[in-house]
Amino acid sequence: MDIDTKRIPFLLEGKKVLVCSFGDMVRSSLTAKLEEMGCTVIDAGRKNLDLANQDDVFAFFKKHSPDAVFALETKFGGKYASQTMPAELLYRNLMMAGNVIEAAYNAEVQKLLFMGYTSVYPKDAEQPMREDSLLTGPFESVNEPYAVASLCGLKLCQFYRKQFGCDFISVMATNVFGPQDNFDLTYGGVIPSLIHRAYEAKMTNKQELEVWGSGTPRREFIYADDLADALIFLMERYSDSLPLNVGTGEGATIAEIVEKIKDVVGFDGTVNYDTSKPDGMPVKVSDISKIKALGWEPKISLLEGIRKTYDWFGKNYESIASQTQGVPE
Ligand code: GDP
Repeated sequence: MDIDTKRIPFLLEGKKVLVCSFGDMVRSSLTAKLEEMGCTVIDAGRKNLDLANQDDVFAFFKKHSPDAVFALETKFGGKYASQTMPAELLYRNLMMAGNVIEAAYNAEVQKLLFMGYTSVYPKDAEQPMREDSLLTGPFESVNEPYAVASLCGLKLCQFYRKQFGCDFISVMATNVFGPQDNFDLTYGGVIPSLIHRAYEAKMTNKQELEVWGSGTPRREFIYADDLADALIFLMERYSDSLPLNVGTGEGATIAEIVEKIKDVVGFDGTVNYDTSKPDGMPVKVSDISKIKALGWEPKISLLEGIRKTYDWFGKNYESIASQTQGVPE
């Protein structure tokens, strides 16, 4: 790291901050925290702005003229979507990254943070994955649409910094979960999908819970509030071209996570591992020593996060079950 110390701290208090995000989960945590800090937050969520439409994005930036931009969470539909709609995922995510970064440059935004994912690391990266493993080997094929789009966002930030001197930074976030996640049984990530499935199994007295893959993959999960906290921390305190890992640094196997979900939900039937479904990367855990050295660490444990997420899910079950969630448009 070679932090540009003249550019930090970049204090957010009193600033006009644009939050571009396809999903609701991290956006809502981040917005609440920014408002508490005295920022004016402009919501560029998918209901307000089509981030893949260049004219709309440019006009939106011109109209609002933000001081700072968080470019978050692209279109996501988990493993099933990456196999069935890879063209759509890559196209939309590339467009969002390109449009937002170019618009921020044109609008002379003072600072931008782009969030990619740790699925950008090579499938054989040494574990836990360090920042210098980026681009040292091929992607895991199941992750490819997300990985390629993340990589383009990270590179755009580096190149706008290099060519134009923009204070654009980027991060690679680990798997995130929390309230307002996509709880779709097919298109959600493992934690929200399994909370949903376990809850319905309990309510209908089903004795079996279906889990995809072998249960042996090891993953790292960050609770959405912790991620939002890290993004704010880095926006204020980090200015360098190196994309930084954001996570907890701690892994758990899917089987261990399933046990936690069973306990929290109160489902005590058997688990049926469906090995016809893909496992994805065998291990995906990031090394967070760099962000820790800057002074940030996560606060919410995996179990506490699952409890909070289940609590929200239970309160919102009727509306979740009544919508077909799929991959939001
Ligand atoms: P990723 O593999 O890190 O991209 O994240 P996912 O949340 O899609 O999957 C994590 C792991 O959980 C993978 O090994 C999946 O095979 C496994 N898994 C088990 N059951 C499910 C499920 O119902 N949905 C999803 N998405 N993954 C599941």
